[in-house]
Amino acid sequence: MSSFNFDVITLFPKAFELMNNLGVITKALDKGLIDLNLHNLREYGEGSYRQVDDKPYGGGAGMVLKPEPIYKAYESIRKSPKSKTLLMTPQGRVVKQKDLARWSTLDQIIIICGQYEGFDERIRCLADEEISIGDYVLSGGEIPAITIINGLTRLLPGTLGDPDSLVDESHNSSLLEYPHYTRPLIFKGMKVPDVLVSGNHEEIKSWRRQKSIKRTLERRSDLISNENYKKSPQSKTIIKESDYLMKFRIGNGYDIHRLVEDRDLIIGGVKLIHPENLGLDGHSDADVLCHSIMDALLGALSLGDIGKYFPPSDEKWKDADSMFLLSKVIDLIREDGWEINNVDSVLVAERPKIMPYINLMKKNISEILNIDENLIGIKATTNERLGPEGREEGISCHSVVLLMKT
Ligand code: SAH
Repeated sequence: MSSFNFDVITLFPKAFELMNNLGVITKALDKGLIDLNLHNLREYGEGSYRQVDDKPYGGGAGMVLKPEPIYKAYESIRKSPKSKTLLMTPQGRVVKQKDLARWSTLDQIIIICGQYEGFDERIRCLADEEISIGDYVLSGGEIPAITIINGLTRLLPGTLGDPDSLVDESHNSSLLEYPHYTRPLIFKGMKVPDVLVSGNHEEIKSWRRQKSIKRTLERRSDLISNENYKKSPQSKTIIKESDYLMKFRIGNGYDIHRLVEDRDLIIGGVKLIHPENLGLDGHSDADVLCHSIMDALLGALSLGDIGKYFPPSDEKWKDADSMFLLSKVIDLIREDGWEINNVDSVLVAERPKIMPYINLMKKNISEILNIDENLIGIKATTNERLGPEGREEGISCHSVVLLMKT
């Protein structure tokens, strides 16, 4: 296997002696997985003093690296076809794990390290990318260069004993890694979580996934919420799995039924008297208030609509009491670990006047939902004679519910 070449232009090659004491990175050097070629900028300096820096034009503090020695050093390097040149600068783009992964498919990285106040502006064109290792300023580009060499080398095949250790790690999948424990089982009264010693691999996997999501949300929610991330396909599964951290969900429901003769007019479990003895038509008792609340409850948990649970094609639900159906939906919601925070509904009907019945409706709904009456809002409006409700062809209802995790 040919080795990955790092060519570094630096005024302080000795700084890279650290590379001889970096565990797996040093091993990668010894095994020939990587080659580190240091190009001492001093050797390309000018005159008998081998001058590499000079005062800035226009005045100001500090010295600036001259362009000629950097160019000469750069030109002395043999470039492979799969090579990139990185300029170390706090003005560059901050390096990310995905950059390291991207560069690891090359076979050469040339790194230019600045010093002092920096370098002459005219060397910038040598670089394919300008890279910073973070929003702070160091005295030179050597530590940034070592940082990049280190991070990239551990991604190369053969560097780490177990390549699987790269899979879950922080920043690899936009999530921070889950917590690790090793022996002893109890240390200073702190015990390793039971699940990790359970031997149940599925449960361990799920526990780690949840911890990973929780940690990321607590410490680096920016990793989950940034726009690029949202576009990536795995964001959907993560947001779904982070449901258990979601404390509230909101749902919206709507229903309309036709006004016809020979039917009862039942809304919110109350039998209303219509001046022309009309009632609402439907497979069940056509209680629009109950139906819209059911739809809002199911919608809040993305469970579909009432048609899915009580299909009109099913004889079982013919003339069904919608209050009973509502009680079924609320069972479903509670089984899933949710409780109703509040409900707000608005009925749209030209006639009869709904007002006199509202307290009774609230009482009925509050009994079925088993929540306080003051958490239920029921309002009524006419449609100013507009649309189907205005022409008294039907009565509709809109509801919004807020669910909270129990
Ligand atoms: N005056 C410059 C900073 C010079 S620091 C400015 O304000 O931009 C000297 C050199 O250290 C830089 O040229 C660069 O090579 C290196 N350096 C310092 N901080 C760095 C960082 N966060 N990332 C990458 N390189 C850095």
